[in-house]
Amino acid sequence: MSESHNIVIVGGGIGGLTLARILQTHGLDVTVFEQEASRDLRGQGGSLDMHVESGQLALKEAGLKAEFRAIARPEGQGLRIVDKTGKFHWNESGAEETFQRPEVDRGVLRDLLLDSLKPDTIRWKHKLNLAEPIEKGRYLIHFENGECVRAGVLVGADGAWSRVRPLLTDATPVHTGVNFVEAGIPDAEQTHPALATMVGHGNFMALSDNKGLLAQRNGDGRIRVYVAFRTTEDGLQKSGIPFERPEEARRALLSCFSDWVPELTGLIRACDDSFLPRPINMLPIGLNWESKPGVTLIGDAAHLMSPFAGEGANLAMLDAAELAKAMLATDNSVDAIKAYETTMFLRAERAAKESAENLELCFTPDGAERLARQMTTLHQREGHRNAEEQD
Ligand SMILES: Cc1cc2nc3c(=O)[nH]c(=O)nc-3n(C[C@H](O)[C@H](O)[C@H](O)COP(=O)(O)OP(=O)(O)OC[C@H]3O[C@@H](n4cnc5c(N)ncnc54)[C@H](O)[C@@H]3O)c2cc1C
Repeated sequence: MSESHNIVIVGGGIGGLTLARILQTHGLDVTVFEQEASRDLRGQGGSLDMHVESGQLALKEAGLKAEFRAIARPEGQGLRIVDKTGKFHWNESGAEETFQRPEVDRGVLRDLLLDSLKPDTIRWKHKLNLAEPIEKGRYLIHFENGECVRAGVLVGADGAWSRVRPLLTDATPVHTGVNFVEAGIPDAEQTHPALATMVGHGNFMALSDNKGLLAQRNGDGRIRVYVAFRTTEDGLQKSGIPFERPEEARRALLSCFSDWVPELTGLIRACDDSFLPRPINMLPIGLNWESKPGVTLIGDAAHLMSPFAGEGANLAMLDAAELAKAMLATDNSVDAIKAYETTMFLRAERAAKESAENLELCFTPDGAERLARQMTTLHQREGHRNAEEQD
């Protein structure tokens, strides 16, 4: 006999945990099934900027505003954009007193959310293999470990390669035409002070010739570096760069940037020995589906997009807050899911368009100039909006 659960969330990433926390603070019974064996199994990656109108709003709904402020890094709000000669096209320092878009390390944020949940909310080592409808609006969920549970409401928060998504749509991620190689410089302030000064405390983007060297300061002093190329999905594989042999990989990557100034290629020379290829994928822009009783998606499972709008994690958290609000407003989960999906589709489409447009701008011969022009336009628009609001 399979266990029955009222609300099942599959995936304990930023989105799934935010949803669990908000529902739990309102007394709802919720269980999160996560494929990983424990919270420490995998490095959680870089830094995220939390937007006041989405990620931060969700944290407020989760009752974690003060706790978030204690771990956030407002000094990380800055952005620098340069071209391959090192010429600055944008240099915005993060105003420390504002909390518009402070940075937070993904692992630290995930820990905050995990620690906020009741014990045993998370069932680790539960990888969903298959979910099947059994009766109207209820699902039988089969896990790789052989266990099986019944769900009253099933929420897929299981990221890019969601196994819940096929219950709602046939859509699958496609490659954006851009690949990253993730690398990093530990303890940069001590080991490479000149690079630390160049990157600053926020995000640094060197863009030219359809390529990029993207860097960001993390809370532990590491500079995370993404070496970015516009290539086909198998472009990195075909390039023959031996990622398992770091010295050779470093030389091969450096040879792709031979006419970039040494101050910038220092970001590759100084990296430690871990080079991780990361294809950048997306779901179709404007993806939607006909609402079905008892099942929905949040975050990347619903609207995977490239990171060039800085919205993915923010949207995953806003989805969580909006779905929770809809579920708390009515006992009828069919209505709640419909209401949530209607607005989620619209905001996801807007962000996915922005992210695709930014990606196209960045990976052009003159990516730095173009992205800086786009930033100027955005700032002017924001300025006009603020002025209108004050009138
Ligand atoms: C290089 C890079 C930089 C980024 N920078 C930013 C940024 O600055 N700002 C921003 O807002 N966003 C950023 N993003 C996007 C952001 O990382 C994602 O949008 C966000 O993590 C989505 O959260 P999620 O909870 O939906 O999915 P995820 O974080 O992917 O979590 C999914 C969870 O589900 C689990 N899971 C998967 N399959 C199963 C299964 N079958 N059974 C059980 N569990 C499963 C996974 O183990 C994982 O824990 C970036 C992305 C990349 C690649």
